Amino acid sequence: MDISVVIPAYNEAESLPELLEKIHRTITGLKRTYEIVVVDDGSHDATLEVLRNQKKKYPSLKVISFRRNYGKSAALSEAFKTARGDYIITMDADLQDDPEEIPSLLENLNNGKYDLISGWKKKRHDPISKTIPSKLFNFVTSRLTGIRIHDFNCGLKAYRKEVIKDLQIYGELHRFLPVLAHWNGFRVGETVVKHHPRRFGKTKFGISRFFNGFFDLLTVLFITRYQTSPLHIFGMLGLLTALIGLFIELYLTVLWFSGQVIRNRPLFFLGILAIIVGVQFIVFGLLGEMIAARFASQTEYSIKEKVE
Ligand code: UDP
Ligand code: MG
Repeated sequence: MDISVVIPAYNEAESLPELLEKIHRTITGLKRTYEIVVVDDGSHDATLEVLRNQKKKYPSLKVISFRRNYGKSAALSEAFKTARGDYIITMDADLQDDPEEIPSLLENLNNGKYDLISGWKKKRHDPISKTIPSKLFNFVTSRLTGIRIHDFNCGLKAYRKEVIKDLQIYGELHRFLPVLAHWNGFRVGETVVKHHPRRFGKTKFGISRFFNGFFDLLTVLFITRYQTSPLHIFGMLGLLTALIGLFIELYLTVLWFSGQVIRNRPLFFLGILAIIVGVQFIVFGLLGEMIAARFASQTEYSIKEKVE
């Protein structure tokens, strides 16, 4: 199997027939074997019936239907388990991503420099309430992770199969697939892709997406860097905070010996607070280490090759 096209779909009945038709047409032109894996993420509309009907037309279609709505990350994660292709293409079900970009994505993967090619919706057709926060999100994520791409959350991406095998996605971490792949040692590139306005249905992510996005950024930074050594971050934070507190109290002690009243000074309380918070940070770190040690044997490393 050459190509697996993976599509998460939540209430996208109107878009799916046209989408499948376009994918089929594009890949047939490439003369490659392929499958399409659609995950119906607990839709309430006719998505599942539509897919059952489409299956008659396209035998290479595989459908997984969730009993309830688990979210886009869950849908992708489940589809990745099923996908058998050497190359995995993900795209949204709403026709905003263009199947005609598949050849160009594959070409970029094939020139050997990258393991994951992320689409870049350079000219985006979304409301401004979405594009501006998204620019900020992408800028911050790129800065903090050191991955120089412009559009982390584009639904249209192409992966070598090794990449997805090592990806652990849950919650809403689908926004950070390039970060997680990069952390596993894969090379991440990007290419400009066409983007279309949504014609059917409506967006599944409201304003909450931005808050969730930034909390998830914190999570991702944390799990990629400190999962196996939480005390390194908490210990450093705690040590700094407690030391500041100690210095404050030391300074006030000197003043006290020289006869000044210190118990009514705000600085006195700030010092105490800093010491307590600092100690707490260190204890958090130690607790984290206990958890990390317990699960250490389950750590999965991304292995490139074994020569035996
Ligand atoms: N999606 C999903 N489960 C969800 C939410 C969304 O499978 O809980 C799918 C949705 O059907 C679409 C893709 O994820 O194929 C992207 O969703 P949407 O188009 O609403 O996001 P936007 O384009 O607004 O970022
Ligand atoms: Mg969309």
